[in-house]
Amino acid sequence: MCTMSRSYCDFCFSSEDVAWNYPAGSGEQWPNSWRACRTCFLLIELDEPELLVQRAMEHASAPRTMIAASHAVFWKFRNGPARRIA
Ligand SMILES: [Zn+2]
Repeated sequence: MCTMSRSYCDFCFSSEDVAWNYPAGSGEQWPNSWRACRTCFLLIELDEPELLVQRAMEHASAPRTMIAASHAVFWKFRNGPARRIA
């Protein structure tokens, strides 16, 4: 088992194909970067926040309002293109 590369998507909480990182916010905000799996990356690039919330709900047992509020922070403070990290 390799724990070195273990990371989770900040949008849907999946650990599959977490290959992208989006800068968001300034140094004072947290988080100031968001990791995204391949599917979430595509949904973000397609500008589909609603589908992103639905996907997150499939992976996480969190209330919809909680997920939507969390993603809203990203959409508001996103300030650059995604960087490939894997
Ligand atoms: Zn994801």
